[in-house]
This record gives sequence, structure tokens and C-alpha cells, in this order.
Amino acid sequence: MIKGVAVKSSEEVPKFMVDGMLGKLCRWLRFFGFDAEYAGCEISDSEVIFISQSQNRILVTSDRELASRFRNSILLSEKAIKRQIRRIVSEFPPDPEAFLSRCSLCNGELEQINLKGLRESLPESVYGRQLSVRQCKKCRKFYWDGTHQSSIMKTLRELTGELT
Ligand SMILES: [Zn+2]
Repeated sequence: MIKGVAVKSSEEVPKFMVDGMLGKLCRWLRFFGFDAEYAGCEISDSEVIFISQSQNRILVTSDRELASRFRNSILLSEKAIKRQIRRIVSEFPPDPEAFLSRCSLCNGELEQINLKGLRESLPESVYGRQLSVRQCKKCRKFYWDGTHQSSIMKTLRELTGELT
């Protein structure tokens, strides 16, 4: 008998739907590389549940009533952002390889881009130093290595217990 090889399919990586009251947490989940959609305030609770269900997303909310309406949800009682993050990453350990692989604004995936022809679109400090640049496939925002990215990376490692 041949034993099945465990392949990490994209289906096994958790996807989240984050309640409109938890915008900060949503951005951090994206920094970790999680697919995290944000339920803006214009979306009704029923729609939030519908999207979570149809896209197989875990609903993250601090609204007890909303959480009670959807089986696959996490009710956060934590108020501080770091505690909220720790709660999620302790249940769903993120893959360090995926850190900073998504756009924190729109949840799009980032791709490495060639700097050629981008002199006009990038600050001279980035283009001139030929930094490694990635772009969001969805909203086209640029991301490059710099002090801001390194400090986020450091925080991600701290929050997952890699740095203590
Ligand atoms: Zn984007």
C-alpha cells in the first residue's frame, strides 16, 4: 500500500473574513501572508456570513451575536491588537515563507518585478539603489525593502515567537 504524501494544498491554508471593527488586525493578517478579506461597514452581517460561507473563510469578529450565527468563526474578546494577533497565530501558525507576500491595503498577492522601465513610477532612492521591488497584482501598489518593511518583519517574528 502506498501512503499518500501530505501535500500542503492551498485549501489547507486558512482564509479569513475579518469583521469591519477589526481593520488593524486584518492588515496584520495580510502582513503574515494570510488571505484576509475585510468586511467594510457597508456590508451587512448576512452578507459577511454569506461570503465567509461561500469562500470557505473563517470569520473573525468581536461581535458575539455575529459569531453565534456562523459556525466557522472566532470570537475575539481581546482588545489589544497584539493579543488579538497572538490569539490567531497561536491557532493558525503562519508560514514564515509567506510573510509580507500580500498587499496590506487590498489583500492582493505581491509579485517580484523587474525595475526596468519603472524609473518614473518609483522614488529615486529606490530605483537608484536597485532595491528589490514587489508589486500588488490587484491594486498595483509598489513595495520595496526598507526600514518600514524590516520593522514589520521583526514584529511578525516577535509575534510568532521566533524572536523572544
Ligand atoms: Zn493591493
